[in-house]
Amino acid sequence: MNTRTVEKVINGQPTSDGAGVELVRMIGQPGLMDLDPFLLLDAFRSDNPNDYLAGFPEHPHRGFETVTYLLNGRMRHRDNAGNEGVIEPGGIQWMTAGRGIVHSEMPEQENGLMAGFQLWINLPAAHKMSAPAYQEHDAAQIPLETRSGTQIRVISGKTSQGTIGPVVQPLTDPLYLDVTLAPGIEFEETLAAQHNAFIQVIEGVVSLQAGDQSRVQLGRDQLAVLGKGERVVVHNEDQASRFLLVAGKPLNEPVARAGPFVMNTEAELRQAFSDYQRGDF
Ligand code: FE
Repeated sequence: MNTRTVEKVINGQPTSDGAGVELVRMIGQPGLMDLDPFLLLDAFRSDNPNDYLAGFPEHPHRGFETVTYLLNGRMRHRDNAGNEGVIEPGGIQWMTAGRGIVHSEMPEQENGLMAGFQLWINLPAAHKMSAPAYQEHDAAQIPLETRSGTQIRVISGKTSQGTIGPVVQPLTDPLYLDVTLAPGIEFEETLAAQHNAFIQVIEGVVSLQAGDQSRVQLGRDQLAVLGKGERVVVHNEDQASRFLLVAGKPLNEPVARAGPFVMNTEAELRQAFSDYQRGDF
């Protein structure tokens, strides 16, 4: 089996979004504009309420999916399709914006640690204008696969040992795993050979092989873009570590993006702005 090597290491770019939420942008920044079908990955982690209290008040989306995975804290979501819910630690919210949705994402706490990720996954042209959809799964609904020294929370996709996550999306076939390794453990997993994949470190230090046989070390808020191949091997160093392993089927379509809209052409973006301004979302 062909083992994937590290193609590129991305350091997160501190930025602010929404009404003033401090976060670290991993995908969707100059170092990595996208990794087809992934359009954006934001990491947020702060115990300073000034960094997150302002939240993400009402805003629109069209043409893709937003996936929020919360590690710490509580976040309330509300949208104009009538969905509302609170995501708690270990919970996931998977929103398919499709032709258009207007939503808000606000912290449901006034102090304490808030940490998690938001990932944007593209939709193919033929599905960008589909009806919006929403699903939410709390920590108890996310299966936990246990191997020796290894714990894997399976949010979407299927592991090589057959554990299946609650989210199924055949259009991009995403695999979304949250992996925790005990010290010194090596983690191995098979991946669809042609899917794009990355690793995002949450804590600890892991190492993977680079193309020139050297080893690449990755720490918190570093992301490794993986080359193609059937399997990934992640070696853990001398402390516990935790990382996301995410993979998906590339769409190979043109990407036109502006703020909260991601379409295939500039004309479709203009249409999105005018539809939203007309209140047609
Ligand atoms: Fe949003």
